[in-house]
Amino acid sequence: MAGYYLNFTCLNCNEKALSTKGCENEINSYIVKNYDMDGMLQVVCPKCNEIIIVVNQCLQFEICLQCAIERFLTNDYAESVFLLAKSKESFVEFVIDLLCYEKGKKFDLYKNGVHRSERRYGFFVASYFMRFGDIINMRLLDSDAKLRNDIIHNGVYPKKQQVIDFGNSILQFFYKVIDKIKSDIPTDVYMRYVHSIKQGKIDTYKQTFKDKKVQVQTVSDAIDFFTRNIDCDEGFEKLCSIIEEDNRMLAVHSIDLEALNRKRRQ
Ligand SMILES: [Zn+2]
Repeated sequence: MAGYYLNFTCLNCNEKALSTKGCENEINSYIVKNYDMDGMLQVVCPKCNEIIIVVNQCLQFEICLQCAIERFLTNDYAESVFLLAKSKESFVEFVIDLLCYEKGKKFDLYKNGVHRSERRYGFFVASYFMRFGDIINMRLLDSDAKLRNDIIHNGVYPKKQQVIDFGNSILQFFYKVIDKIKSDIPTDVYMRYVHSIKQGKIDTYKQTFKDKKVQVQTVSDAIDFFTRNIDCDEGFEKLCSIIEEDNRMLAVHSIDLEALNRKRRQ
């Protein structure tokens, strides 16, 4: 399973530590591995037993890309290809939604029969052309279909270089579109949209757990193309090495909260 590190603090314990003398060195921060593609993690604080909902505010395509890289780093190339493809699909949906948002409209892809990926890609290419006057070749979007089919139907295991090539083509596609968004769509419009997705995520969880005493916290622990200034020209391997380095540091401090809770209950 693909996971990524999340870094958060128990607000309850921190408040207590701050109001109590001599607790300056108390650490109530945790680094744990999360496996949820929507970016949600539900944990119990090992100290105060309060439920903490950690919401990773990164967009879904960013989380999928992060997980694809993590799989690549553990030599699970087939899973890495699937996650890269999922990231691309999620990105395409994100851009369609953004273009509709700019027009002040909402277009439900699923309700309107644009659920299959080839239809969605067609819709994307047309919308993109109408908005930016720029052509994206559909073949570019379909380029991974053969690779995926070979893996699923013919049991072919992808080679490392094939994943790198696929990763590079996806990143080039992302960078091209993100550059267009940043140059042609007013900053306040796309930032408002990105924030509305993030806020929507938090509101959903607040709503879900509204009857329970929980802390809902937000973090942005993945590749973040919009709110942080990520240098938008790194190739797949460079991005992998950056994340590998980050992970090495995080892994040292990461905590197995499950094990900690089990130990506490004994
Ligand atoms: Zn706590």
